Amino acid sequence: MQQRPARVAVIGAGPSGLYAAAALLTSGEPVSVEVLDRLPAPYGLVRYGVAPDHVKMKSVIRVLQQPFERGRGELPAVEFLGGVHVGDGGIPLEVLREHVHAVVHATGSSVDRALGVPGEDLTGSLGSGAFVSWYCGHPDRTGLRPLLDHPGVAVVGAGNVALDVARVLAKSADEMAATDVPDPVLDVLRTSAVRDIHVLVRRGPQHVRFTPAELRQIGELADADVLVHDDGLLAAGVEEPEDRRHRQMLDLLAEWSATAPTGRSRRIHLRFLRSPVRILGTGGRVSGVVVERNEIVDGRVTGTGEQETIDVGLVVRAIGYDAEPIPGLPFDAATGTVPNEGGRVVRDGVPVPGAYVTGWIKRGPTGVIGTNKADAVETVAALLEDLPGLPAPAHPEPAALRAALTAHGVRPVDWSAWLRLDAEEVRRGGLRGAERVKVAELSEMLDAAHRACTGP
Ligand SMILES: Cc1cc2nc3c(=O)[nH]c(=O)nc-3n(C[C@H](O)[C@H](O)[C@H](O)COP(=O)(O)OP(=O)(O)OC[C@H]3O[C@@H](n4cnc5c(N)ncnc54)[C@H](O)[C@@H]3O)c2cc1C
Repeated sequence: MQQRPARVAVIGAGPSGLYAAAALLTSGEPVSVEVLDRLPAPYGLVRYGVAPDHVKMKSVIRVLQQPFERGRGELPAVEFLGGVHVGDGGIPLEVLREHVHAVVHATGSSVDRALGVPGEDLTGSLGSGAFVSWYCGHPDRTGLRPLLDHPGVAVVGAGNVALDVARVLAKSADEMAATDVPDPVLDVLRTSAVRDIHVLVRRGPQHVRFTPAELRQIGELADADVLVHDDGLLAAGVEEPEDRRHRQMLDLLAEWSATAPTGRSRRIHLRFLRSPVRILGTGGRVSGVVVERNEIVDGRVTGTGEQETIDVGLVVRAIGYDAEPIPGLPFDAATGTVPNEGGRVVRDGVPVPGAYVTGWIKRGPTGVIGTNKADAVETVAALLEDLPGLPAPAHPEPAALRAALTAHGVRPVDWSAWLRLDAEEVRRGGLRGAERVKVAELSEMLDAAHRACTGP
């Protein structure tokens, strides 16, 4: 009798989950894989984080989709079950566990870190996760309507996400129309009154965590000047960083700091050595941000006590992410990760049978998309090593999982349903002269996915 393949559920169809699915598929082991995602669309932050104008970066999708494209015509080796939230309000993890030998958790880190300063809860103070999700058309954020009715915006952070946010705000709506931003987002961008985007960087120009390519892009904007505010640090000369990329960025910043603005209609101000200490409000909404000037003493950043107020109507903090704990699994709140050894989930140092993690939930919110590949390969190697010793699930037949989803009121978006939604987005793109225009409302996404589909 032919051996029934072992069943693995991957929760999360972002890069780490899809690299894990690919590693399982190409392992040569008899495994069948189901990838579940709470959203009807795959690709996680590649779709909902990578900036809309970073089209080249999004081409990684061609690689990520491969596990679903393989084995067409036969039984698909990897199945997509979109629109399936595992946990509260969806299918409980314990129920999923009854259907599979092992679960790979690849749910990422989607909670915005807080600055911990007074005024952070005012209307107009947002995390970059929320703001980026909005312009990327994440269904959770269609109602956000950020306040772009004031000329000043502060973006707090020294990484690429801060530059993404600044660049999107500095581009004209016509430039953004060529991207995949949903129509309602474009409508808000068209009415934007934003003119001065203040990027607040706690440390000096020699310490930024941008990448040279991303930094260069803000200097290439059609209608925005870049102004460097560094308290004369660059002119006085800072210690040459050892890293070549940091040297490149320092050269670029020095060039900009010596260049007068050209009178373009928007400005990105890179304000170094500034930390927000308080967000001011009027009538419950942001009206300014108080920043403290820092200095570098013996290589360390120290507050000087000197403060100034910048006139802004919106504050976006891009200072990193945390993960949500996964009910039923241990969680390390300090790192925002699930404790693990090489991808095996461990509780008090003891492996939790059949539970694995990969991606940001495994190692924290760092690295580029490609970093998740080696990470997933490591996790899958551990899983495959353990597989012979893992107990068989109570209900190993794929149909039983489908029935359980139905019993929990969930109608999954399978790969062909996603392709219908995908085609609808490409169709909408054609109407606007873009490659695609995202459908953001959940009900519209589901309608497009399930259109002309009469099956369960
Ligand atoms: C704003 C931003 C911009 C970025 N830009 C770039 C870039 O230009 N280049 C680059 O290389 N890297 C970029 N990155 C980093 C890159 O996106 C990450 O390395 C990568 O997405 C992490 O992958 P992941 O699979 O761990 O998490 P995610 O991509 O977050 O995927 C997690 C998936 O799990 C799903 N999920 C969560 N909870 C559940 C649940 N309970 N049930 C079911 N599904 C669930 C989510 O819907 C999501 O699809 C960016 C990151 C951010 C935040």
